[in-house]
Amino acid sequence: MKKYDLTIIGGGIGGAASALRAGQNGLETLWILGSKKTRKRSRSQWVMNLDNIVGFHEDVIKSQVIKTLKKNKQDEAIALIENEHYHINNRLLIQNTIQRIEKDIPQVTIGEGEADSLQKSGDIFTIGFNEESVESTAVVLSTGVMDEQPHIQKQNRKGEWEDTPKWIYPFANREQVLYCIRCEGHLTKKDSVAIIGHSNTSAELAMMLHERYNNKVYILTNGETPVISEDRQKILNNYTIEIIEEPIVGLLSEGVKQLHGFEFENYASVSVRYALVSLGLHRVYNELACQADARLMDENQPEEKRHVWINHKGETSVKGLFAVGDMAKREDEPMMKQVYTAQEYAVRAVDTVDTRRRKVMRQKIV
Ligand SMILES: Cc1cc2nc3c(=O)[nH]c(=O)nc-3n(C[C@H](O)[C@H](O)[C@H](O)COP(=O)(O)OP(=O)(O)OC[C@H]3O[C@@H](n4cnc5c(N)ncnc54)[C@H](O)[C@@H]3O)c2cc1C
Repeated sequence: MKKYDLTIIGGGIGGAASALRAGQNGLETLWILGSKKTRKRSRSQWVMNLDNIVGFHEDVIKSQVIKTLKKNKQDEAIALIENEHYHINNRLLIQNTIQRIEKDIPQVTIGEGEADSLQKSGDIFTIGFNEESVESTAVVLSTGVMDEQPHIQKQNRKGEWEDTPKWIYPFANREQVLYCIRCEGHLTKKDSVAIIGHSNTSAELAMMLHERYNNKVYILTNGETPVISEDRQKILNNYTIEIIEEPIVGLLSEGVKQLHGFEFENYASVSVRYALVSLGLHRVYNELACQADARLMDENQPEEKRHVWINHKGETSVKGLFAVGDMAKREDEPMMKQVYTAQEYAVRAVDTVDTRRRKVMRQKIV
C-alpha cells in the first residue's frame, strides 16, 4: 500500500493552499481533489469574483504586462488589455495551483475522485479513495460547507408553481445575490439591498450594511416568522429597516442579467439591486472527520451542521488530523470563512506536519 507523509482531502482553496505548501516543504503528498458531485456542492466551483484580498487584483498582473508591451510599443494590445476585466475567482486559483504542482512539484500526487473513508490505527491513517486504500502519517481535511438557499415559490414559463432555490442562481453567479458580508458586503454600498433571512444574524447584517453605507436595507423573511430580539428590533426601527414577512413569489429583473427586486404574495414589491442570503448553513461536510472520531463544535446543531473543532494549528482532537477552510472552527475565534483564512490555516497545518516530520528525522540521527 502506498504511504504518504500527508494526504490532503478537498480541491478547494484550503486544499490548494495545503498542497502548494506541502510540495514547497518537500512532503510526499497525495492531494485528493474530489469529484464532479462534490465540486458542484462546494465553494471551489461557485465563487465568481474575489476582490477583498490585498494582492488578488487584476491590476497586479495587468500593470506588468502593460509595462512590457509599452517597451515594445504595442499600442493596440495595450488598449485591449487596459479595457479588459480579468475576473479572479476560486476556480482559476485552484486550476493555477494544480498546473504549478503538475509542472514543478513531483512530490505531490494529484488524484481526482472522492475520499470515502478515513480511519486511524496507531499513528497511521488509512484513507479509502477510488476503491483503493492509501496510508498517511497526517491528513488535512478541507471538504467545505454549503449555505442554506432560499426556496422561492414562483411560476415557471408554463405557469406551474415551482418551490425551488434555482430562481436566484443566475443572480448569485453575477454577484447580485450574495452570501458573505465580509467578502461581498461592500458591493452593495451605493444601492438598496434585501437581506433574505429571519434571525438575529439577519438583523445584525441589515444593521451593519446600513451603518457602513447608509443605504436602503430591507429584511425579507420569505414567509417565516422573524426571531429578532427587542433591542435589535429597536435599532432596525430607528434605521427604518423594514421587515417584510410575506412569501416571495417573484423576482423583478432584466432577464437573468440584472436583479431589480422581489414580489410578494400580499405586498406589491420592493426594488433592490442586491440580496444577501442569511439562512445559515445547509451542511458542513464533516463525514470523514466523524469517521475518524474528531470532536465537533456547535453542540446545539444537528450533526450535519456542526463544524470540526480545531486548535490554533488547525489540528483536530485526533493527533495528525487537521481541518482547514470553511469546515473548521476554533473556540476562541468568530467564524472564519474566507479565502485568506483558509490559506492561513492551511499553512499552519502543513507547517506543523513538516515540523513533526523533520523532528523525527533528527531524532533518528541523535
Ligand atoms: C458566494 C460566495 C462568495 C465568496 N466570496 C469570497 C470573496 O470574495 N473573498 C473571500 O475571501 N472569500 C469568499 N468566499 C468564501 C470562500 O470562497 C471560502 O472561504 C473558501 O472557498 C473555502 O474553501 P474550502 O477549501 O474550505 O472549501 P471549498 O472551496 O468549498 O472546497 C471544498 C472541496 O472539497 C471537495 N470535497 C468535498 N468532499 C470531498 C471528499 N469526500 N473527497 C474529496 N474531496 C471532497 C470538493 O470537491 C471541493 O473541491 C465566498 C463564499 C461564497 C459562498
